[in-house]
Amino acid sequence: MEINGNQEIKSNKQYHPQMHSAEHILNQTMVRMFNCGRSFSNHIEKKKSKCDYHFSRNLTEQEIEEIESRVNNVIQQNLVVSEEFYSRDEAKTKFNLSKLPDDAGVKIRIIRIGNYDACPCNGQHVSHTNEIGTFKIVSTNLNDNVLRVRFKLL
Ligand SMILES: [Zn+2]
Repeated sequence: MEINGNQEIKSNKQYHPQMHSAEHILNQTMVRMFNCGRSFSNHIEKKKSKCDYHFSRNLTEQEIEEIESRVNNVIQQNLVVSEEFYSRDEAKTKFNLSKLPDDAGVKIRIIRIGNYDACPCNGQHVSHTNEIGTFKIVSTNLNDNVLRVRFKLL
């Protein structure tokens, strides 16, 4: 449970700060490489997590390696992970709030990872990216135009 502005927010995300922070970096990397949008559904667990993206094909080996390399590069830069609060109206103009529930409160919490990523989130995160460890994609598959990326941290 997180205090967000004056309101307590329940989150259904399990709190694995390393995994959860890795998810943010993966999402931004997917957006930059494929312009596919952030994962629309995800399941974050300590041992292995998965993110789903709207996609028309599976990834190639080369693309998987490129994603891993970019994510690990961000991790190794040891960027500061910080939180910022915006009013809902202000946040609307700067960030994509479509995944936020309508009752997410008047103050929107934005998690910023250095200058690499910023997105609204109520989960728990590391304070520096090198706490995440090494990012590894376990497998990917495509089903009904949904690309599922499974990953773990070493
Ligand atoms: Zn988060």
